[in-house]
Amino acid sequence: MAAGKDTNPVEITDRDADWHRFLKTRYKKGLDELSREYPHSRSLYINYRDIESFGKTGTELADELLENPGKVIGDIKDSIRTHRLVKTRKKDEQPDIHVRFINLPRKIAIREIRSEHIGKFISVEGILRKTTEVRPRITLAVFRCPAGHRTVKAQTYGPFAEPDGCQADGCTQKKLELIPRFSKFVDSQKLRIQESPEGLRGGEQPQTIDLDVTDDICGIVAPGDRIVVNGILRSMQRSSYGSKSTIFDIYLECNSIEVAEKEFEEVNISEEDEKEIIALSNDPNIYRKISHSIAPTIYGVDDVKDAIALQLFGGIAKEMPDGSRLRGDIHVLLIGDPGIAKSQMLRYVVRLSPRAIYTSGQSTTSAGLTATAVKDEFGDGRWTLEAGALVLADMGVACVDEMDKMEKHDRSALHEAMEQQSISVAKAGITATLKSRCALLGAANPKYGRFDDFVPIGDQINMPPSLLSRFDLLFVLADKPEHERDLAIAEHIIKAHSVGELIAQHNREPIPGVDEEYITEQLKPVTPEIDPAMFRKYVAYAKRTCFPRLSDEAREELIAYYMKLRDLADANKPVPVTARQLEAIVRLAEASARIRLSSVIEKSDAERVITIIDTCLRQVAYDPSSGTFDIDILATGVSKSKRDLIRTLKQVIRDIADENGRAHKPDVIELVRQQGFDRDEVERQLTAMLRSGEAMEPKHDIVKLI
Ligand code: ADP
Ligand code: MG
Repeated sequence: MAAGKDTNPVEITDRDADWHRFLKTRYKKGLDELSREYPHSRSLYINYRDIESFGKTGTELADELLENPGKVIGDIKDSIRTHRLVKTRKKDEQPDIHVRFINLPRKIAIREIRSEHIGKFISVEGILRKTTEVRPRITLAVFRCPAGHRTVKAQTYGPFAEPDGCQADGCTQKKLELIPRFSKFVDSQKLRIQESPEGLRGGEQPQTIDLDVTDDICGIVAPGDRIVVNGILRSMQRSSYGSKSTIFDIYLECNSIEVAEKEFEEVNISEEDEKEIIALSNDPNIYRKISHSIAPTIYGVDDVKDAIALQLFGGIAKEMPDGSRLRGDIHVLLIGDPGIAKSQMLRYVVRLSPRAIYTSGQSTTSAGLTATAVKDEFGDGRWTLEAGALVLADMGVACVDEMDKMEKHDRSALHEAMEQQSISVAKAGITATLKSRCALLGAANPKYGRFDDFVPIGDQINMPPSLLSRFDLLFVLADKPEHERDLAIAEHIIKAHSVGELIAQHNREPIPGVDEEYITEQLKPVTPEIDPAMFRKYVAYAKRTCFPRLSDEAREELIAYYMKLRDLADANKPVPVTARQLEAIVRLAEASARIRLSSVIEKSDAERVITIIDTCLRQVAYDPSSGTFDIDILATGVSKSKRDLIRTLKQVIRDIADENGRAHKPDVIELVRQQGFDRDEVERQLTAMLRSGEAMEPKHDIVKLI
């Protein structure tokens, strides 16, 4: 704080001279440019560090800006005006220049903004959640009374202020009319930022603050952008039903917006951390360590944990010379019976990723998973564009629980979000493309709540095949009773609970014979080998520094595997595996090498990934009736052998039907059976067709196609 400022508030300083000197020496170029470009460009951007480092008065000026921003901005504007520092082409024009400050050293977290900051110049960092359309706002309203007098009333952010009556001497008119033609307007936009996910510890709800943006800095940012906002904290009195409250709302009068172009350097990694990370990466057991550090309280599901480990590290996003982008993010979907710790797993992943968001498909916000344009009170009648979870998770992991219950509009927007990693919104006056470069970890329940052994898996996944094929890995987790495993889970859960009980009791009243060492020993099975804070650093470090390349052996291995899958059912040519899967394989292999911080993707990476993919494919794409892998189950929801059966069934019905299209049911079944299909299967398929309305049974044992 400036010396003497508090002790002697009326101290006279020649600010005009100070600022004049500052502008002349440091911002001559900027001011000359404004002279040339005005009114097209009308903001002078001043770097805070330039003020701070400006001779003897520097720190004093800088402090004054933070403490008393209104006065400082006025001083600088006055200085520009009196010394005619901006000379426009029109001789007598007084250019209206904005003075904007950037690059402030200290940032305040949104949740730490308090009443002491009101009226101060602050800098806040966050992720843009909502933006309104840019619309004019009145700043100076000119009214006319019936007698012809004019009354002028200045307007600020908030409700429209009307004069009590005509202000002319002696005039008693009450009814005034606004004259827009003489009033002044400014472009305005309202924004809402929220704390960025990496700043939140353990699933806290992010807090938000609203921004009032005017004139030339309107419309330069989009939801999902990470920005630093500098401005003056203002307060506005609340009122309800016309009566004023003693409670005030706050908003930030935005002075400047800085867009954080790069990824935030969100995770601080010290030199010791780096040493520890490198040591870990050289550990021969690193893969086991990593996957054991993911949700250690959850027993089993090792393949899922391995997959999540790969997802957290991620593949490499590639920019191609033609401008296209290949995603590096790995999408994983867990479909499973209730109560097998899916939600638990997702919540844990949020703690491990440097930047992650947890949300439910039945999202509480109107923006849902993707983005939406609405007209609500936030925009005071303007359209508002709001970012959903996948936009806010840009450059991170979006954990979406209960995905099967998501909104319809999300479902269609998700296709674009997952593959192109952007979300387009075109509605009313708003068209925007928002970025959503995130990995998606989804959890869903089967269609009928639980898996049914007698219905093919493909039928039980309540999601369009086009969406399913965009997941790199898909796990089917059925909760089948299995004696050994159940016992192990039971023991694991009980152990975790009883240690918890022990600790609680011990904290209340020390138990003899129980000490720290004993507790640590007991906690071992549920303690992660790498603690979450270190894990986050590890992931951030790998993503920042490690960009591995395929070795020849790995390439051969991957191609061979892909060809094997393609060839498996070559005989009658269904397309078992699509190119999407090959891309997935490459991404996973990249992630696998990243865990070792290796610059080369080795054969071992390829093998590790192939094992994981094999397990997944076996669960979902393995068609037991033909003994082949058939990705068509995913891509169209119907396996090839079943497609053949349906085709044959329909053909037979057509062949033997009478002129009314009726066929004798037992004959149909027998004829289809003779073509090599299983009798039960044929009957089941026919029943399914009757139920779905593809066929009908007008009389007993008579079928007809519709
Ligand atoms: P879901 O979301 O799959 O319906 P939850 O994540 O809500 O299930 O899990 C239900 C509870 O069961 C959790 O408290 C979880 O800890 C426990 N649980 C389920 N499976 C396991 C397991 N394999 N190991 C440890 N705990 C488990
Ligand atoms: Mg759940």
